[in-house]
Amino acid sequence: MKCYQHRDADAIGICKACGKGLCEKCIVNADFGITCSEKCTKEVTQGHKLITNAVTLYSGQKKTSLLHPLFVISMGVLFLIFGIQEELWAIIPVGILFFSFGVGLLVTHLKSYQEIKKDSL
Ligand SMILES: [Zn+2]
Ligand SMILES: [Zn+2]
Repeated sequence: MKCYQHRDADAIGICKACGKGLCEKCIVNADFGITCSEKCTKEVTQGHKLITNAVTLYSGQKKTSLLHPLFVISMGVLFLIFGIQEELWAIIPVGILFFSFGVGLLVTHLKSYQEIKKDSL
């Protein structure tokens, strides 16, 4: 991969927000990764804040029954919607991750629920 600005220079990093290849001269260091411009740094920082908030919120939740997986799924959906609306592409994989994690939790939960039901019969 070559730098998006300097066609003859090898890219040594990829912008975390827009995915462009960057050479040594073009890399702007964000607190949470490599970016190509101030605009992208802002996006990455914003996205990171969003994730931190969600994790704080998430760990504050009581791990009770169905609410737990459903919460994770809705977080994933929110991330996806937010990412698409605000064009923060870095957030979309996080949304997908949350979503599939939530679905996995839900399946596990429903399975154990069925087993409990079977046991009580
Ligand atoms: Zn960028
Ligand atoms: Zn460059």
